Amino acid sequence: MYSIQHLKNSHKFAFGNKTSIQNSHLCGCFQCGLIFQASKVTNWTKEKILKETGWCPYCGIDSLIGDVNQAITPNFLEAMKDFWFNGDAILDENSFKTYKSCESLLNDWVKR
Ligand SMILES: [Zn+2]
Repeated sequence: MYSIQHLKNSHKFAFGNKTSIQNSHLCGCFQCGLIFQASKVTNWTKEKILKETGWCPYCGIDSLIGDVNQAITPNFLEAMKDFWFNGDAILDENSFKTYKSCESLLNDWVKR
């Protein structure tokens, strides 16, 4: 189980992460779900903040997190993918309530 807060915090590791990835042994992509040697990441893009972000060598998306920032497991990548790409997180009960109340606020807003 990962809380929304944890998934949100972890998302920050996917940007400006060149140093983190280069210091990691393993790297995971939460778009394609693969876990691989961090040294396989060779494409970088420069962000406005002048830090470089790694691109997945398999699916070409900037959704990489290195294991210096976060233990990379299939469950973690799955939770991140569900939350960020499918809009459906594996949530603990408190986060789920928060998420549901945000969702209903949003729905109300959309209906207006
Ligand atoms: Zn990928």
